[in-house]
Amino acid sequence: MAVLEARNLKISVQDKVILHDVNVAFTEGKRTAIIGPNGAGKSTLLKALSFVNPKYDGEVLLDGVNIREIGRKKISQRVAILPQAPVAPPDVTVGQLVDFGRFPYRSFIKASDPKADREAVEWALDRTHLHDFRDRRVMALSGGERQRAWIAMALAQQPEILLLDEPTTYLDIGHQLEVMNIVEDINRDYKMTVIMVLHDINHALQYADELVVIKNHGVFAQGTPKEILNVKLLADVFGVRADIFKNSQGISVLSPVSLVNRD
Ligand code: ADP
Ligand code: MG
Repeated sequence: MAVLEARNLKISVQDKVILHDVNVAFTEGKRTAIIGPNGAGKSTLLKALSFVNPKYDGEVLLDGVNIREIGRKKISQRVAILPQAPVAPPDVTVGQLVDFGRFPYRSFIKASDPKADREAVEWALDRTHLHDFRDRRVMALSGGERQRAWIAMALAQQPEILLLDEPTTYLDIGHQLEVMNIVEDINRDYKMTVIMVLHDINHALQYADELVVIKNHGVFAQGTPKEILNVKLLADVFGVRADIFKNSQGISVLSPVSLVNRD
């Protein structure tokens, strides 16, 4: 069942079409990877899906309800997004950053629920192994720790749907796997729907149940990674000639060899 869906989505900025005719449905409880070349419109799609950017034509449906009819705070209680390059205020600590994730549950009129807030923050720190870091400044963390802090902030929202925009870019391979494992565990343990823009094709093969490929400002293909992520797709979408082989775990691995047009 589709928990989040875009219908006939079209987004233009200053008369430039960035996305058009986008029809995608994201399955509840699954991990979907979005891949595509730089500038294809992946981040733009994620921002529309989370209503961070409401300037689009067409419809975004959350559990079948037009997201425009749902209040912004209500959306944030259900959909969390970690943008591509988030920036923390200079002196903010990990604990404070994660606590910001509780914002959708607070209001000026209604007293917040401090116990629920505390529990959600503890849970988020727990899932991202950040308990010992809560008083550290976010700016002073290593790349891997900082990315975990941002994920913890999104988790503190206790969303049904987690949107991640290139969560492993700039991390070394060990910390990339650490992030992917956190996401995998959350998805498995809480059936949280995960939609993630991934840079690494092999992460998409290994960690995603479903795949959406964006090219030339539209959906080029969608299906399971096993079905559609192959040598031909890499040539068609990225202009790269690749080899494919199985690793020691029996998982297919794609290895870029050269640019197609330089053969
Ligand atoms: P991706 O995430 O796939 O790399 P983006 O969604 O960030 O791509 O951007 C898609 C295209 O839209 C790019 O050409 C980018 O320059 C353009 N774009 C995105 N946001 C804006 C904006 N606010 N103003 C002008 N152009 C934008
Ligand atoms: Mg992007």
